[in-house]
Amino acid sequence: MRPALLAGAELYRQSSYGSGHPLAIARVSATLDLIAALRWCDPAQYRVAPLARPDQLAGFHDPGYIRVVQRAEQRQRVPAVDRARHHVGANGNPVFREVYRRPATSSGATLAALDWLDEPGVVYSLPGGTHHAMADRAAGFCYFNDAVLALRKALAGGMARVAYLDLDAHHGDGVEAGIGADPRVLCVSIHEAGRWPHSGAALRPAGTRVRNLPVPAGFHDADLRCLIDAVVVPLLRDWQPELLIVQGGCDALADDPMSGLALSNGALWAAVAAVRDLAPRVIVTGGGGYNPWAVARCWAGIWATIAGHQIPDQVPAAAQAVLRGLSWRHRLGREPPEHWFTTLADPLRPGPVSAAVRDLIAPALDGGP
Ligand SMILES: [Zn+2]
Repeated sequence: MRPALLAGAELYRQSSYGSGHPLAIARVSATLDLIAALRWCDPAQYRVAPLARPDQLAGFHDPGYIRVVQRAEQRQRVPAVDRARHHVGANGNPVFREVYRRPATSSGATLAALDWLDEPGVVYSLPGGTHHAMADRAAGFCYFNDAVLALRKALAGGMARVAYLDLDAHHGDGVEAGIGADPRVLCVSIHEAGRWPHSGAALRPAGTRVRNLPVPAGFHDADLRCLIDAVVVPLLRDWQPELLIVQGGCDALADDPMSGLALSNGALWAAVAAVRDLAPRVIVTGGGGYNPWAVARCWAGIWATIAGHQIPDQVPAAAQAVLRGLSWRHRLGREPPEHWFTTLADPLRPGPVSAAVRDLIAPALDGGP
């Protein structure tokens, strides 16, 4: 097994969806800076994410839609007819300076990760995780769907069984729509019930290997541990995928403003640790996450989990300087608690496993993968 690889790109440092948008914050750059300050990434383990070519994006996306996103970047505006049809410049998917290059780099990262896994190992595609994008339209801040592209490429390359695990607070609707019907794919999403995009309520959509696990507000560390141990691990052990993609969005954290879920970052690290050896090739991606401190601390900890670094109780001065340098125009960002600057690990959030979570186990396991 080769050492874990980390994919990032400098493009994200200067890129913003626009002031007032939840993705106005630093995420990829903040995480890379924090990892560097912790001295957790040997230069040999870092890879610059390439821009996906249009013909690569066409592995899932409609060529006409790809051209609309390209033209949106060139012209910095979208004709009304395209806005209505493709939701670019609408519905939270703004036209911004890198509106084509940024999502094309996110997809490029996860597609390249598959190439880099020419032998068994783990790659962290930090810019990936854009799980809401549909074949011909943007959705939920996502323009191109890196997971669908990589899973399709893996199957086209001859893999017989692949798997996708989505830990984001929101249902991985674009992935389910894009590849969930393929019998070679086991597709599991754990997400908040009743939250946008309001899909993912059906536990076992007919004719698929999709498992949707909609969980209630307040979902905490013990709830997630229960689903990972009782559902996700047994299904993956039975399925024996050749490739596993884990969408590691962190908007299910208690410190994130975009969901009612209440995890500590340690619960997500434990989930990644529990599945990372269940496929010879694993790609972990980013995803949602809208509190810059919560994102950088969580994703740096995911890298530590993958790459085998010990999480310190207190971070060294250089890492604190990175965290103190972040800013967030949000009520919760006005007076950040001190531990967002000085620690990586959140206080644990234990509790009794809820009945709603327990009730998901039997139907999810029934009949095997
Ligand atoms: Zn999300």
